[in-house]
Amino acid sequence: MKAILTWHSIDASGSVISTPPEVFAAQVDWLTSGRVRVVSLPNLVALPEQDDAVALTFDDGFANFATHAAPRLFDRGLAATLFVVTDRVGLTNDWGGYPEAGIPSLPLLGWSELGHLVEAGVDVGSHSRSHADLGILQGPKLADEVAGSAERIVAELGQRPRVFAYPYGTVSDAATHEVERVFEWACLADLRAVRSTDHRTRLPRIDMYYLRNLRTLDAWGSVTFQAYFAIRQALRGPRQRLRTTLRRRRMARPPAGGKSPA
Ligand SMILES: [Zn+2]
Repeated sequence: MKAILTWHSIDASGSVISTPPEVFAAQVDWLTSGRVRVVSLPNLVALPEQDDAVALTFDDGFANFATHAAPRLFDRGLAATLFVVTDRVGLTNDWGGYPEAGIPSLPLLGWSELGHLVEAGVDVGSHSRSHADLGILQGPKLADEVAGSAERIVAELGQRPRVFAYPYGTVSDAATHEVERVFEWACLADLRAVRSTDHRTRLPRIDMYYLRNLRTLDAWGSVTFQAYFAIRQALRGPRQRLRTTLRRRRMARPPAGGKSPA
């Protein structure tokens, strides 16, 4: 079984986007125990479906990637892709101008720190310009979020990003077409293994939030493991749709002055 794995923030807050540092350390130990091969995302896509291999990805570009994730990855010589939100680099993850319920407001890496990470071998991909919900954008706004983010990475880091991650995992045909024009691969948030039939710009990813328990990781590739994620995906569907509806409603009516709601 081959899969793209995702983390967001490595911190101890206990939020749904957070992996505690000691859990991350244990996950990396497991990933380097010989059970699977860790390869870059482009290399993973090229491997046969039955290979036991993973690619490591990190969304949003949190500052704690540099302090808590990168040292462990470099120690083991592991490849990773870091997806950055180009207009938010050096700021925080308060995408709509204020924090989302239950999500900690955290600092994001700046361009110079990203430059050092690129020099050290980290692959920087795009996660749009503003963490926009691409599922509802069209025309120039959509193009700006996708192509505009790639241009900014070229301008700041001197290299063209090859991989894109859709914010919130939401997508439309228009978004896929735009992403196809600019990037070689793109990732969604569907919780399953990568299949040879997957479109290059609609690749699934397994969120490591669901693999905090190492016993679940030990079942890697088994029927039990695949069933666990099929159930998670099914349960997450209605909740994700509700969150998407609420977020779109909120973004349509931003609070005056962009201040945090009481
Ligand atoms: Zn994100």
